[in-house]
Amino acid sequence: MEKYYIFKSVLVALLLITGFGLFVVRVKRRVQLMLAVKGKKEFKLDHIQARIKVLISDVIRQSNVLRKPIPGFAHMLIFFGFLAVQPHSIEMMVQGVYHKFAIADVFPGLFSGYLKFADTIAVFVLVGLGYSLYRRLIKKPKYLSNGRDAKLIILFTAVIIVSFYSYNSFHALLPDYGHDVSHSLTISASLASGLSLPSLSKSSQVIGLEISYWIHLLTILGFLIYIPGSKHLHLLAAIPNVFLKPLGVEKAMIKTDIEDEEAESFGLGKISELNWKNVLDLYSCTECGRCQERCPADRTGKPLSPKEIISHLKHELIDHGDVIINGGETEAIPPLIGQGNEHFNADVIWSCTTCRACEDVCPVNISHLDLLLESRKNQVLMEASFPHEMQDTFNNLENQSNPWGFSNDLRGDWCKGLNVPLMTNHSEPDLLYFVGCAGSFDDNGIKISKAIVQVLKKAGIDFAILGPEERCNGDMARRSGNEYLAQMMIQSNVELLNQYKPKKILTGCPHCYNIMKNEYPDFGGTFDVVHHLDYFYQLIEQGKLEINPQSFGNITFHDSCYLGRWNHIYDTPRKLLTVLNQGRPPVEMNESKDNAMCCGAGGARMFMEETIGSRINNERAKQVLSTQADIVTAGCPFCVTMLRDGIAENSGSMAVKDIAQILVQACG
Ligand code: SF4
Ligand code: SF4
Repeated sequence: MEKYYIFKSVLVALLLITGFGLFVVRVKRRVQLMLAVKGKKEFKLDHIQARIKVLISDVIRQSNVLRKPIPGFAHMLIFFGFLAVQPHSIEMMVQGVYHKFAIADVFPGLFSGYLKFADTIAVFVLVGLGYSLYRRLIKKPKYLSNGRDAKLIILFTAVIIVSFYSYNSFHALLPDYGHDVSHSLTISASLASGLSLPSLSKSSQVIGLEISYWIHLLTILGFLIYIPGSKHLHLLAAIPNVFLKPLGVEKAMIKTDIEDEEAESFGLGKISELNWKNVLDLYSCTECGRCQERCPADRTGKPLSPKEIISHLKHELIDHGDVIINGGETEAIPPLIGQGNEHFNADVIWSCTTCRACEDVCPVNISHLDLLLESRKNQVLMEASFPHEMQDTFNNLENQSNPWGFSNDLRGDWCKGLNVPLMTNHSEPDLLYFVGCAGSFDDNGIKISKAIVQVLKKAGIDFAILGPEERCNGDMARRSGNEYLAQMMIQSNVELLNQYKPKKILTGCPHCYNIMKNEYPDFGGTFDVVHHLDYFYQLIEQGKLEINPQSFGNITFHDSCYLGRWNHIYDTPRKLLTVLNQGRPPVEMNESKDNAMCCGAGGARMFMEETIGSRINNERAKQVLSTQADIVTAGCPFCVTMLRDGIAENSGSMAVKDIAQILVQACG
């Protein structure tokens, strides 16, 4: 036996050096690639306490994973069960080299308690794996990756757990072998007696134990070498990715220095132009498909799948790893768009509504939109390539600063006769109402603006508007990749607002709200911005707005993406509706709050034709109609228009209103 131990210890040592060596080499290459890409992104390690909280919530409590309760629970079983087995596996590795080693000798009580715990919960890994197999072999949801990689990982994990139990079942019968663990085992001890292992001869038991040992060790080392090249790279990348996720202004768009004369390119044109965080995102993907499942573009038959984008870009990055790491000629790298790839082409990037459903649901906090919007930016600024119907929109924005091309001099005409003061005459009001393009020029939007004005007057608020001095907020141009045009309009608004120094800015549109609150600070404009639904609820709460609640019947509320997922405003619209409707809370749709489906207008999609698949607003309207409510409400003029069209298309007759229009009625 002594000779065997010597042979074993040499072989195990060699295997460990080789296995861990290959692992380190493969991980090092992934890190080199992450650091070699050309895109710029500042590395910020701020708000450590907040970041630790995010780690606890997303990794320890698995809060995002559990948004899909059954698969989430199965993942939890696998994750924690697998982790629990690892100290024991490490002990086995060391024992292979020096067979007398036992952690129990160092921490006697602690290790015995740990082993009992691990032995009890490891079986749940098999339960979780069983469910994963069921989903892949029987249920087969369209969005779930079901390739060789996924199945191989299930196999690796299952073999590690089974060999853990078989090793311990034999070990329970061999108290002289290493050290006595028989009192620290639960399931393994039962397995040993259930399988009648005590009836085997001692030498057979030792052979069984040794075979289990080698299977366990070789599988773990194989898995370790396999991880950096597989989807399980997320085991290494996900925790840093969650820790480094953007905090504070969670989702400001990347600001491009368009004045940079040395820049070879703007946006994302080639895989080498990713930034380090994009690469960490790609490495972190678990291919769970949740993003695809929620994506309104994918759900309505468009070619966009956020999961496939991540997977395609990851392969593209790895395929061009040598050129990128060696700093070679990037001419050798083909452009991302135009390769005829089904997962990343012009139809894909222009199908996105920027709804953020993908990012919101992603358990590892991947920023899909950085990839999509930077690609649009590159297409527009470098290739002058965009959907043909956007040409008119860009011209209108450039010439008249609104997407319809109305003369900007008429921007204040909607409130003629309403006695609304202009900032030019009344420059220091308590509130500046930033009306926005839809609120100024679109018929539906004007009705909402008038309702907002009526409520402000009823509450006796001292306010003014900019009128013809106001420009489009820049959101539409930014999200459609025309960063040059967007920055022109943003800078013009910021300059003007900085002159007036408004005490507070009220917006009637979530797109104005989002960009002014979250993106204007990058351009030197930091303002106190409030969305009208939040503001009106505050007025009622503070007793500054008297209302006369009425029975409006059943009301449902559509969460606009830029109010909900972009800015987490979910509760106030509901509270406001409840107060207005005599205490009756709104009827919730099956998909609401952070699960709400987009209306289809965001990301400048309002001004693009929707020629592929079914219309997103029609699908959302079906969900709205299924509530059988009397009125559907929103807090966005674009959503109101899209829902109205969708409901008409579905032959529905449900009324569509902004909550401000309900509030006006309750104000008498
Ligand atoms: S932002 Fe919305 S539309 Fe765009 S990829 Fe994500 S889920 Fe799909
Ligand atoms: S991007 Fe996120 S949600 Fe989508 S498949 Fe990857 S891990 Fe899952």
